[in-house]
Amino acid sequence: MKKIIHDNLFYCDACEEHHRTTTYNQPVRVFIKDRPVYTCKRQYFYLQQDLNRADKNRNKAIKKLNKLQSSIKLVGKKGLKARIDFITIIFKYSLKNTIGNGSLLEGFKLSMQDYDRCFEIFDGDLVVHGLLKLACKNYLLKVNLQEQLGVQNFGQWRGIYNRIERVCQPYIRDPNTLDLFGDLS
Ligand SMILES: [Zn+2]
Repeated sequence: MKKIIHDNLFYCDACEEHHRTTTYNQPVRVFIKDRPVYTCKRQYFYLQQDLNRADKNRNKAIKKLNKLQSSIKLVGKKGLKARIDFITIIFKYSLKNTIGNGSLLEGFKLSMQDYDRCFEIFDGDLVVHGLLKLACKNYLLKVNLQEQLGVQNFGQWRGIYNRIERVCQPYIRDPNTLDLFGDLS
């Protein structure tokens, strides 16, 4: 097992690097699926702030899913962007169970079919890639992905992300600049 704290260094799960423990930089313990990890105080502060924001804005997030619903079916760049946005909102606002158990069906006509559809338009790997790229910058998204997908499935998605980064760089740095579907003129 990886030793998380030794001497005065600790591994920060948010920054994915070792930090030195100082008076101002102490490790804070976070549980992901009952597994303890450590983050630096700075990232812990951002995490708490984002958690509060997510709680406050959950209804707005559901309305945004509603708006994206027709675009996630589109083939091409605009559709891909909508699919990445849709899946990101699901995980960032912890809505996977809510959409999965049918709670959003009556009021918002959103169901697990919409979630699944995001991976069924021939670019599912690019959706995973776009989502994990955002999770690299947002610890709440990374934590939620592990909580809601499970650590093992998260690892598989990370494999997809790594493969695309390795194979497609420098062509796919950012889903916004991705133009695999543009005209061949
Ligand atoms: Zn850190």
